[in-house]
Amino acid sequence: MPPKRGRKRKDESEDEEDDEPEIEDDDEDEDGDESPVPRPAAAPTLARSPSNRPKRQAQEKVAVAHEEESKWTEHESLFILNPTGLPAVTKLASFDMDDTLVHPKSSAKFPKGRSDWRWLFPQVPERLKKLHNEGYSVVIFTNQAGIGKGHVKAADIKGKILDLAKELEIPLRAVIASEDDVYRKPASTMFKFWVEKLNHGVKPDPASSFYCGDAAGRAANWKPGTKKDFSCSDRKFAHNIGLPFHTPEEFFLGEPAAPFDWGTIDPKSVLATPAQPVAVTPSATQELVIFVGLPASGKSTFARRHLVPAGYVHVNQDTLKTKEKCFKAANEAVQAGKSVIVDNTNPEPATRQTYIEMAKAKGIPVRCFHFQTPEELTHHLNLFREKVQGVPHVPGVAYNMCKKKMVEPTAAEGFAEIIKVAFVPSFDNPERQAAFLEWTEKHS
Ligand SMILES: [Mg+2]
Repeated sequence: MPPKRGRKRKDESEDEEDDEPEIEDDDEDEDGDESPVPRPAAAPTLARSPSNRPKRQAQEKVAVAHEEESKWTEHESLFILNPTGLPAVTKLASFDMDDTLVHPKSSAKFPKGRSDWRWLFPQVPERLKKLHNEGYSVVIFTNQAGIGKGHVKAADIKGKILDLAKELEIPLRAVIASEDDVYRKPASTMFKFWVEKLNHGVKPDPASSFYCGDAAGRAANWKPGTKKDFSCSDRKFAHNIGLPFHTPEEFFLGEPAAPFDWGTIDPKSVLATPAQPVAVTPSATQELVIFVGLPASGKSTFARRHLVPAGYVHVNQDTLKTKEKCFKAANEAVQAGKSVIVDNTNPEPATRQTYIEMAKAKGIPVRCFHFQTPEELTHHLNLFREKVQGVPHVPGVAYNMCKKKMVEPTAAEGFAEIIKVAFVPSFDNPERQAAFLEWTEKHS
């Protein structure tokens, strides 16, 4: 199991590359805003004095930052901008932010600070205002895992969105997913939260709502000279939340739909052509069972379904934490005359050999269950598991390490039998099946 990633929430975080002034026009009034800035009552003489001006500016900057911060709320790893007093909406115009509404105005690939943005197309602001005037609620759903990783400041992202709202002069709403977790697009989680908590449980009408984003799975040169989309997560998000999808070029420029590729396994196809379940019989006499398979290939579910009910001791490194503790727990169970399942990835013959020797010393047979779940499907299951069980997903590096070490198990190692186990989808309830059917995007 991966360690839970450390959360960097403090905006005054370390070594920021640019330290540009965040509040540029400190004399501007916040007209039209429902909660005006509580200005510090600076004495006129002080305010007029050039020597005190930096101090006054600093005080005002703090006050403005405080006032801006108060517009945002948090829920777990989400940051939410939801101006109060807005009614529930059925007409939802929802957007990704980066490279959908805005683009860095510097030549940087990623924006450098709050003010490093321009509208992606000149048409964007007028179109957003028009949507608002036509009764749509304009909402941004944006992935910003860079906040959780400490690469960008939450205050910069939040401030940028407030700047967009100010320029548009509409009550912009936004939800920021600040971590690489269960709220990250394309999962529907952040949308469902918005519907439930911020739209009073009212689901937007798909006939008059949409989601627009640039991560659309388009191949290189989908338009002459264009790069490949970095992912398909926006298109998948729209699909998962049941809304029509548009790319920014389709929506703002009226360009025809470009060809695309979902890029990952279609969960529907897994259910459409389920594998035949392998016949599993728990042994009537003591034995040791070794699992071999990638992370999230269905090992623990299989153990709980087929062997644990028959009294097998379940040894698992996710709970025991170290290899040594697994050896110890397995050995104790073997010595106590119990059957054991070693439910780890066990890619290396050397590790498997330790268990085989353990069983040999006790004079009991060893069966190997080799999980055949295709890697692409394990990535999907990894994120499905995060969604339904709340365990953090296994990071990509752990997969790479496991694949590098993986040696196909053979009878020569000392197994009495090697059973190839195909993944058979089976769900405890319809909600789980619905969660499985959501598209996922493999990520780090
Ligand atoms: Mg984007």
